[in-house]
Parts: sequence; C-alpha cells; structure tokens
Amino acid sequence: DFRDNEYLETYAKLQQEGVPVAIGVLDELINWGRSNSLWPLTFATSCCGIEFMSVGAARYDFARFGFEVARASPRQADVIIVAGTITHKMAPVLKRLYDQMAEPKYVIAMGACSISGGPFKKSYHVVQGVDTIIPVDVYVPGCPPRPESLLYGMMQLQRKVKAQRFFGGANRKEKMPAELKEME
Ligand code: SF4
Repeated sequence: DFRDNEYLETYAKLQQEGVPVAIGVLDELINWGRSNSLWPLTFATSCCGIEFMSVGAARYDFARFGFEVARASPRQADVIIVAGTITHKMAPVLKRLYDQMAEPKYVIAMGACSISGGPFKKSYHVVQGVDTIIPVDVYVPGCPPRPESLLYGMMQLQRKVKAQRFFGGANRKEKMPAELKEME
C-alpha cells in the first residue's frame, strides 16, 4: 500500500539521502486508463442527438479522447450522454438504462432540455432536469450545444474521473510526512 505510513517515511528518508526513488499511486494509473477509455451509451432522444452524432463523426471525432466505442448495451457503457428532451414517458426507461450500467458510471446532461426542460420549461410532459431522475456529473448548456461544447464537457468528465480515489487516497495527503506534503 503506497499510503502506508511506514512506506512513506522510508521514502522520505531515502529522498533526504539523495537516493533516487520513484513513487506512484495505483489510483492515478487506473484513472489514467479509465479516463481515456470512457465508452458512451448510444442514447439520444431528439435534436441534441444530432450534435452528439456529429461529435462522434469524422469532423469532431471524439475517438481522439478515448470515447470512440459507443455501445448499444448499458452493460458495456461507462457514460450516458443525455442528448435530448426526456419526457415523463421516457423517464423510467432512462432510469432503467442508468441502473443497468456497471459502476463506476457517469452522466453528462447535454442541452437545455436535459438540464432544465429547455424550451419545454414548465410543460406538463417534459422532465424538468434529468438530475431529478439520475445523478449528473457534467452539464453542457446550449440549445443545442455546439460539438465543441460537448467535447469540452467530455474533457471535464475526464478530469473528474482522474480525481477519483478507489484505494483510500482521499486521506493520502493527511497521512503523509511533512517532507512529502511539501513535494506534492
Ligand atoms: Fe432540441 Fe434544444 Fe432540447 Fe437540444 S436543448 S433537444 S436542441 S430543444
């Protein structure tokens, strides 16, 4: 365990003695891989979906960021991009798709409709924000957002994934000897 106090103290001692030692954190290695292979679910309900498709096509090419494998099955997807209007009739389907995705999973709310109902604000048939149904990680505003905006949102999600800790790393810095804290 890289965060073990004894390990960190030994590391600090070796550093002081000038012994070259490399230190790595398993979380960072795993997150580097995960953030560069986020597979979106093939999911679009209306006009925002056309922009989503454009981002996947040659001109914007989200494959450059590791998003290239859009999956038709929620079992194989890491991220759901809610691209379009979600009606109350569609809401249980969206929830079920989200529930069927394996953890860790992420949600991008793309466009005004999915963020807050958009042009259908206060209408009887449209969900007023998908975050009332499923948790949202990144919001991409616009009606529709331009492909560059969605790409930016995807990159923000990558930053979020890179910051996640699976091996108790949230306490890592607190446990560190003072010399190591300064080095970080
Ligand atoms: Fe269509 Fe605008 Fe709603 Fe996107 S936000 S689905 S472009 S109405």
